[in-house]
Amino acid sequence: MTLGIIGAGPAGSFLGAKIGWDKSIIFDGKPKIGSPIQCTGIITDSIYRVIDEIPDNVIVNHIDTFRIFAPDGKSIDVDLDKENIILHRGKFDQHIAKLAKDNGTPIKLNHQLKGWKKKNNKYRLLFTNGKHHDVDYLVGADGPHSIVAKKANMYGEREILPGIQARVRIKKQSQKFDKNVTQILFGLGEFSWIVPESSTIARIGIIGKNTKHFNLKKAFDNLAEPYKHLEYQSGQIPMYNPKQKLQQDNIALIGDAATQVKATTYGGITYGMLSATYLGDQWEGYEKKFNSKLGKDLWISLKMREVLNKFSEKECDELLEIFRKEGNKEILEKMDRNFPSKFILKLLMKETKLWKYGFKLFRK
Ligand SMILES: Cc1cc2nc3c(=O)[nH]c(=O)nc-3n(C[C@H](O)[C@H](O)[C@H](O)COP(=O)(O)OP(=O)(O)OC[C@H]3O[C@@H](n4cnc5c(N)ncnc54)[C@H](O)[C@@H]3O)c2cc1C
Repeated sequence: MTLGIIGAGPAGSFLGAKIGWDKSIIFDGKPKIGSPIQCTGIITDSIYRVIDEIPDNVIVNHIDTFRIFAPDGKSIDVDLDKENIILHRGKFDQHIAKLAKDNGTPIKLNHQLKGWKKKNNKYRLLFTNGKHHDVDYLVGADGPHSIVAKKANMYGEREILPGIQARVRIKKQSQKFDKNVTQILFGLGEFSWIVPESSTIARIGIIGKNTKHFNLKKAFDNLAEPYKHLEYQSGQIPMYNPKQKLQQDNIALIGDAATQVKATTYGGITYGMLSATYLGDQWEGYEKKFNSKLGKDLWISLKMREVLNKFSEKECDELLEIFRKEGNKEILEKMDRNFPSKFILKLLMKETKLWKYGFKLFRK
């Protein structure tokens, strides 16, 4: 049986690295893996649930503190129990692609899928370069606008958000970044960040939607304007859809193609790779396994996002003060934001003031 994987991002390549089938092959439309970069590359140590090690040259920095600023300018420092990792996202994708090749899964670049014809239970994949390839099974790991999902009628109702990011350098010494501190601007857009690579270089970005009162590009310009822009790394991020179909006939979706992104901080690398391991372990029952292992956490993140999107600036200020309190901050310091089910209940039990925000879920 032949498996065709569309997309050599972390999800597709990691599936290629895990799959034990006789013949699997990855196709990507790009000429080079990992380029252009459209990601901040910050991950928690839960990546080590997925992969044994990450080579040193792929890791740019470590983060030990999240400094969260409220709209009123006050901040709290959340000292992480376990450091976050800042990846060189281009090198990371190339590393995972090498694992796929080492596992016997070749990668064909410059192969942009445009569709397929189904004949005798086989998919004849058609590429824009005029080539074709026959496979028995097909996986869409082709990002948020997945053509596999669209052609298989599995795209569903998905919302895709723009994320604007620049890699910047300071212009003067007084702008120096704390090398191991990520800054979060709570209440600005849906999520905004300054993630340092070093004390002089950082990745600055923001995700959100334009509204009557908010202009994403303007907010980004304000945030990044003081620095010298080295490179733009903007991209698009799908909002998790709990009703997303993951598997149908001999087709499956993983990663951003399957909206497997947490809606709180819009990270998708670890989820996409976890879902690749589930599918790589066993084709049958992948959707069920994914939903039982990660569905709850993605759903909680989605609900947290729905609540946060209804916060006024004053409520953002208030929430930060609640998090500042002894006991609450400790819970945040120990949490792994990929798995909110592990800490949300603890937090709600400890801090009943948080309950009132839950009612926002029912407010239009
Ligand atoms: C600004 C920004 C910042 C982010 N920051 C973080 C972060 O800090 N941490 C984190 O965990 N996540 C972050 N994300 C999300 C993260 O980048 C994605 O979740 C992750 O890249 C998903 O991996 P993937 O393999 O599913 O898809 P992708 O990485 O998008 O890879 C899809 C691949 O499919 C290929 N492809 C697409 N269409 C076709 C086609 N028709 N034919 C052939 N090939 C095709 C593409 O060329 C691409 O190589 C960020 C996203 C953005 C936009």
